[in-house]
Amino acid sequence: MSTTFPEYLQLIDNLIAQLPTELSSQVFNDLQALLPEQLVLAALDLLDRFQVVKYMYHGVAPQYRALGTTSTYTVFPDVGDAGASPLPAFCSCPSFIYAVLMSETHAMCKHILAVRLAHHFSMFSERPCTLDEIASISAEEEQP
Ligand SMILES: [Zn+2]
Repeated sequence: MSTTFPEYLQLIDNLIAQLPTELSSQVFNDLQALLPEQLVLAALDLLDRFQVVKYMYHGVAPQYRALGTTSTYTVFPDVGDAGASPLPAFCSCPSFIYAVLMSETHAMCKHILAVRLAHHFSMFSERPCTLDEIASISAEEEQP
């Protein structure tokens, strides 16, 4: 029996909602019950280094970016809410597209998990930005 990405995300969201609001080893253990250890560690590492950035622009849904060592990816944690997409969340990284959506070998990517955890623990950097900046954020992504 395989669990689809939307079903999986719902499970994770339910779990995260019940986590304590402080990062602890219990958080790690609880997450590990549902997700591979490597994924949990990678997501917590992004959080630890405040690599999740929330870009705010008045009137536009906030954009999240997960800063990596080599690339930065845009994460839309709630696209399904607006009815804009059949997927509940989206990340622009290759592992989300290939491993989660296409081959379904991974439950989710570390960026989506990190953004959800960052939200729960309030561990993100917040940056106000202009529409031009939002446009340039999207354009940056086209670069290799
Ligand atoms: Zn990703």
